[in-house]
Amino acid sequence: MNFIFQISIPIPFEIQTVNIYLIKKEPITLIDTGMKLPETYRYLDNSLKEAGITWQHIKRVIITHGHVDHFGFGKRIMELSNPTFFVHKEEYLKIKEGITFPKGFAEVLIKNGTPDGMINKIINYVKKVNQFGDKLDKARFNILYGGERIEFDDRFYLKVIHTPGHTPGHICLYNEKDGIIFSGDHLLQKTTPNPLFDWRGKEGNQSQHSKVLIDYIRSLRKIEKLDLKIAFPGHGLPFRDIKSLIQKIYNHHSQRLKNVLNEMDSQKDMTPYQIGCKLFPDMNIKDVLLVVSEILGHLDILLDKEMVKRKVTNDRIYYIKEKLPFYKGIFKDIIKSYIEKLTNLIWLYNSIYPSFFSSNIRISKFFFVFFNLFIP
Ligand SMILES: [Zn+2]
Repeated sequence: MNFIFQISIPIPFEIQTVNIYLIKKEPITLIDTGMKLPETYRYLDNSLKEAGITWQHIKRVIITHGHVDHFGFGKRIMELSNPTFFVHKEEYLKIKEGITFPKGFAEVLIKNGTPDGMINKIINYVKKVNQFGDKLDKARFNILYGGERIEFDDRFYLKVIHTPGHTPGHICLYNEKDGIIFSGDHLLQKTTPNPLFDWRGKEGNQSQHSKVLIDYIRSLRKIEKLDLKIAFPGHGLPFRDIKSLIQKIYNHHSQRLKNVLNEMDSQKDMTPYQIGCKLFPDMNIKDVLLVVSEILGHLDILLDKEMVKRKVTNDRIYYIKEKLPFYKGIFKDIIKSYIEKLTNLIWLYNSIYPSFFSSNIRISKFFFVFFNLFIP
């Protein structure tokens, strides 16, 4: 894989560095751009020289998602090389306008309980973040929908996999033959990617967030099925132990689901912000957006499982814990998994003693189907 160059560039965020990948195959392609910072130019320029190419050789830039650390330097690259930018339809407007957080985010924060006094500070913080990226309104775009093959010479290609979650139009790039994935911020080794609340569709002035964590888990299941040998992430070093990382992420979110539920009450309505304050008592102004997103994501799952209820009073959104009968919610999952295990066990014994167990199989399958169909 000597045609893949990882260029790791320092950024003033907690995650410390962001990666650009240079694919040295015709047409020469970059994956992501880094932020609008002098360091980005310096690191990129050095790496291009080391790889023996010039700025003019860059013909394509693929953006994994519309966050400023991944597209912020795009305008400078446009001026230096005039490449075509490949971006998913759902991220296009953010990148074209140079904004990481869509318009209307403050409204979502207010509705979900964030105190009015904090909103201006958060808006200022978001403005500062957005300054690390230029809008790409003059660039040439190739809009992606997922499923495309981005071809290189000698039959190498990268398949676009739409992996909504971290953002609605996040993409991973996959090569089946070599088991390579460029995972953007969908898979990171050192931190769990934050599924940030966002909006589907065009302008972000709707107050309804998209169900980012549900999307994210669904996208993880998609990636889990691929035959992967190595991941090149948006932050940090490449890594190979992909299956166990995915398992770690599942475990993290199921633990977080329990924690969110523990902080809630079945007597008292709480806003997502209030739940966030209990779960992360030390959060500062920079964390509010992440925390409210995190809580909303988990509440979406709990709503789906009918373990919480949502209501709107005076334009604020509240959640309350459901009082569940034992066969619902988490218990339902546990009972289900036991019935499944029992069915499998009987199935196994049946292959040894076919006549004795065959009727039991039918009975256990019947219970399994009955339980799934008739108990909500
Ligand atoms: Zn990132």
